Amino acid sequence: MNTKNYGIIKDKIKETDAIIIGAGAGLSTAAGVNYGTLNFKENFPELVKHYGFTDMYTSSFYDFDTEEERWSYWAKHINYLCIGMEASETYKNLFNLVKDKEYFVLTTNVDRQFLKAGFDSNKVFEVQGALTKIQCSRACHNKLYDDTVMIKEMLEKNEDIKIPSDLVPKCPVCGETMEVNLRKDNFFVEDDYWEEHSNNYEKFINDNKNKKIIFLELGAGFNTPGIIRYPFEDLTYKLPNAFLIRVNDKYANVPNDIEDKAIGIQDDINEVIKGVSEL
Ligand SMILES: [Zn+2]
Repeated sequence: MNTKNYGIIKDKIKETDAIIIGAGAGLSTAAGVNYGTLNFKENFPELVKHYGFTDMYTSSFYDFDTEEERWSYWAKHINYLCIGMEASETYKNLFNLVKDKEYFVLTTNVDRQFLKAGFDSNKVFEVQGALTKIQCSRACHNKLYDDTVMIKEMLEKNEDIKIPSDLVPKCPVCGETMEVNLRKDNFFVEDDYWEEHSNNYEKFINDNKNKKIIFLELGAGFNTPGIIRYPFEDLTYKLPNAFLIRVNDKYANVPNDIEDKAIGIQDDINEVIKGVSEL
């Protein structure tokens, strides 16, 4: 840990006109909103016993036999990582660092932690979807449905690894099964809200392209580098007054062609945000 970096980050944020946070899985992991979660066995012994699941991430790709089982699983997953989870200290500290600046958030995280921590929803683009939204599995229409009430009812009436059949959601238009709105295939629905936020992101960059702008990249590795990591490098290179702060516990190196406009900090993201907050 190099605490000297904390001062650099603090000063950069203070001096900048605008700040774009790019957040990947590493941020939520550091914040304790964790897919490979420590308490998985304790919280979901029935899933471990019945399916042999080991964590929330790999289990989400399981091919369930019935919709009753599939939604029993997702209700637990969504409640555990999102609906029943409060804002973490990490996200709250991050909000306090940027709340008085011109900011925008681009995130691949689906746990809604930014909104819970107080970030303005107009300034948070959740590009890969959100756990609180469901869609038609065939994407037959361009609409998303809030699932928070539905999930609670599923949990109340759930028995072991199944929900009652009458709670299984069906597409109101074509009658097909429903899916959580997470980008995993070509059926991912981008609704008007998604489009609007995508436009807000483009506009934010355009409005600030000649100003002092910081790209604060937190925990974006190589799962989907084309969404945050590579575009941030590219924009840092192109925009005259841009600076990239890359915090990653594994992949913090920055390319040579932007090394005078960037800093890579290989460290625990939670520790870094906390350290900067306490200065
Ligand atoms: Zn449909």
